Amino acid sequence: MAGDPRLPSVDQSDGLEARLASVRGSISDAARAAGRSADELTLVVVTKYHPASLVRQLAALGVTDVGENRHQEAQAKAAELADLGLTWHFVGQLQSKKARQVRRYADVVQSLDRDSVVDAFAPTESEPDPRVVDGFVQVNLTDDPGRGGVQPDDVEAMVERVLRTGTIRLRGVMAVAPLDEEPRRAFARLRAVSSRVTSIAPGATDISAGMSGDHAEAIAEGATHLRIGTAITGNRPDAP
Ligand SMILES: *Cc1c(COP(=O)(O)O)cnc(C)c1O
Repeated sequence: MAGDPRLPSVDQSDGLEARLASVRGSISDAARAAGRSADELTLVVVTKYHPASLVRQLAALGVTDVGENRHQEAQAKAAELADLGLTWHFVGQLQSKKARQVRRYADVVQSLDRDSVVDAFAPTESEPDPRVVDGFVQVNLTDDPGRGGVQPDDVEAMVERVLRTGTIRLRGVMAVAPLDEEPRRAFARLRAVSSRVTSIAPGATDISAGMSGDHAEAIAEGATHLRIGTAITGNRPDAP
């Protein structure tokens, strides 16, 4: 990749390259321990609050998938970095009005968790043939309905709704581990939800789980997509 004029030369002094290498190493170790191949895992680097320049550095280091959780910020970065051909994952809570805009630049929406958001992806009279996005149904692994995600019991209904839109290619399920529970236990529940999903949507085998602090546990429980921020980017700047 050296010499590609779109990519900056990476300044190694800030530690980004070392942190990325360390996370990649830890992902490989966890995959090996679980008897899995690291090739079946997609690393999504969550770059929220960080400037576009950091995303450009990550691309220079071979990162292909990035995650964002706020529409305006994501939209601006995706536009500024359109030349890089990155895969953009939207991982934040959505409202239906924003959802229509998110699908213009996001390749993957990981936070489908409400009827109104799913319905926003359906064709309309003014947009009869919208861009198709990949989607994950977000599952709430806590008892608190205020946290993002559908309750496990409601996942089948949501999956059927997603399939009916015709404009979302369902990839699987996504979740964040609760703060007050051993993550591996929570991810085991997600894995059980995933197998219910694949019984009605056989292609939707992906599991997005695992962040900076719990990606090894997620890999042990079958995660295919890891959403890792601070362990790679360093601490996030304050929310702008
Ligand atoms: C911020 C965020 C992440 C990354 O979290 P880190 O702890 O920084 O790795 C993962 N998933 C979602 C949904 C996020 O909002």
